[in-house]
Amino acid sequence: MAVFVMGHKSPDTDSVTAAVAFAELQKALGVDAVPCRQGDPNPETELAFKKFGVPMPELMTDVTGKQYMLVDHSDIKQAPDNWDKGELLAVVDHHKIGDITTASPIFFCAMPVGCTGTVLYKLYTDMFKKPIDSKVAGLMLSAILSDTVLFKSPTCTPDDKAAAEALAKIAGISDIKAWGLELAKAKSSVEGIPPMDLIHRDYKDFNMSGKTVGIGQLELVSLSQVSNDLKCAIMDNLKKMKVDGNRHSVFLMLTDTMEKEGTELLAVTDDPSVVEKAFGKKLEGNSVWLPGVMSRKKQMVPPLEKAFAS
Ligand code: MN
Ligand code: MN
Repeated sequence: MAVFVMGHKSPDTDSVTAAVAFAELQKALGVDAVPCRQGDPNPETELAFKKFGVPMPELMTDVTGKQYMLVDHSDIKQAPDNWDKGELLAVVDHHKIGDITTASPIFFCAMPVGCTGTVLYKLYTDMFKKPIDSKVAGLMLSAILSDTVLFKSPTCTPDDKAAAEALAKIAGISDIKAWGLELAKAKSSVEGIPPMDLIHRDYKDFNMSGKTVGIGQLELVSLSQVSNDLKCAIMDNLKKMKVDGNRHSVFLMLTDTMEKEGTELLAVTDDPSVVEKAFGKKLEGNSVWLPGVMSRKKQMVPPLEKAFAS
């Protein structure tokens, strides 16, 4: 009986490549494992599969009556539909433990590292002592570069770097940084994409002291990817979202991850002083440059919540 291996919904590069890498490892252990994905691959993921000549896994979003393994998550919200009507056999992850439960003992491996690819590298080499196929190594390397934002993310550990270097050797990638930049460019491509889609690429609404505050983030290799025309079109859409959603504020972080390493914050708000309270800098028109700010979760939401509460 086939065992299906899948990452989370709205798949990123780690989720799709880890499904392939873990399925390959399972095959080496004698399991009839089939990698799949729970959604459309993003342009970065497509680039990685093309580069290393690996076919894209099939789509699967429902595991009723199936045996399956999860990678890159253990949350019900991100798991396949009817997760409890199939049989979960294994989890490999690098997030906090989620809320999925099982009736029987399973293989469960989570480590506090920057990428599932790094956990899998350790499983291949340390635990199961199996060789890693060069194409699969290329995919795992791509996932580590993506999840750790080229080793710059605060979630990156020395284990991620060591795994990436070893995987690059197996995959025949001599310039890790150049490949990471290519991936980042594909991930952050804005060309030909409607402004509203760009705002929603990574968008969340928050309740801050009873007010609805929307915060989107657009990760860019360089701020210059967003032209003035595009910025104006984005601002129009932010204003529309504020009115239509009855929001107090809508923010979009234009985060420059490689060149300037900071965020240009676009803001539409009933109270511009919250920005000054949160970041110690005044809005100029509708925007403000915040050097060093890269993370919504760690550097944007907490100071804004504080400002709204004061
Ligand atoms: Mn992921
Ligand atoms: Mn991941």
